Amino acid sequence: MAAVQLIGIFKRFGDVQVVHGVDLEIADGEFVVLVGPSGCGKTTLMRMVAGLEEISGGELLIGGQHANHLPPQKRNIAMVFQSYALYPHLSVYENIAFGPRLRKEPESEFRPRIQAVAKMLDLTPYLARLPRALSGGQRQRVAMGRAVVREPELFLFDEPLSNLDAKLRVQMRTEIKALHQRLKNTVIYVTHDQIEAMTLADRIVVMNAGNIEQVGRPLELYDHPANLFVAGFIGSPAMNFIDGTVTAVENSLVLETDSGAAFPLPAESAALGQRVTLGIRPEHVELTQHGPIALPVDVVEPTGAETHFYSRIGDAPFCVAVHHRLDIAPGQQVHLRFPADRVHLFDSQSGARIN
Ligand code: ATP
Repeated sequence: MAAVQLIGIFKRFGDVQVVHGVDLEIADGEFVVLVGPSGCGKTTLMRMVAGLEEISGGELLIGGQHANHLPPQKRNIAMVFQSYALYPHLSVYENIAFGPRLRKEPESEFRPRIQAVAKMLDLTPYLARLPRALSGGQRQRVAMGRAVVREPELFLFDEPLSNLDAKLRVQMRTEIKALHQRLKNTVIYVTHDQIEAMTLADRIVVMNAGNIEQVGRPLELYDHPANLFVAGFIGSPAMNFIDGTVTAVENSLVLETDSGAAFPLPAESAALGQRVTLGIRPEHVELTQHGPIALPVDVVEPTGAETHFYSRIGDAPFCVAVHHRLDIAPGQQVHLRFPADRVHLFDSQSGARIN
């Protein structure tokens, strides 16, 4: 069993604290993805779980056992990194066999395991090849095979797909998900790619500057981001934000921007005079014939399945995404509506969600 608990975990490098008391419970068999911008502490947190980085404070439990000082090799963990770190002079088979050989397991015991792993990862035809004769995706599968053959209770993935091209990344993402569905072991996966996080995770942990901003299922974070940071980080294209002050016009609440533009707000959503930030996802903006909001189109981006276009509200860019082709050109005026149940409101000062 490999449930993982982090209780008030701190990390300092010399005088600099980079992880500030993180609490997180990961259930046995759960696929948890850590996301956040560069430098927020994702890798450091994972290296502490792996035993590759000393824990400065707090408690780490793996499978219910106190693990702060457990040596890495006693943690029953396998890691897959961004760089595949394969031995170039060893065949695929020998790369996967490296760990079992090191542990002096008899080959008659680990050979069937390697054959099973190779079959699962579609590596059987390549077992005799050297890594340089493999594609990037195949090499990444060998790195995974090496991890899987150890039959670990806990898998740690640190940006395993970021060296691959876009198409291969999508393919490997599906393979990792299928692998987890088969093996059902606990996974902690680090990425800064929020699409990867959304598609892979049972739960996502959004980190920022050494703290956890929110933990939740992917669609929970998408539908109810707890604050401006999570709202802006989860979703692509990113949520639009409009800052202003809550005022009343003819008994209805509106958000009035500093440049005097007004946007209807859902009833009783905020207090009069409050400084708020309205958030609306590009895919939730509705195009109408005579909607309350009129904007000029600056840039149009057809993607085939969708059309994205960009405008500005005050100084802030504003994006609209529709799931069809749209005959629209720069300079044209469009009318928009924000459906009340799609509007997110945040306190501008604290960033906290208020509706
Ligand atoms: P990225 O997505 O860029 O890999 P990350 O979220 O994984 O970023 P970490 O690598 O965990 O971030 O780094 C967190 C912070 O700790 C950064 O500010 C980094 O500069 C700092 N840091 C990491 N390792 C060390 C170290 N050995 N000595 C000093 N500071 C370090």
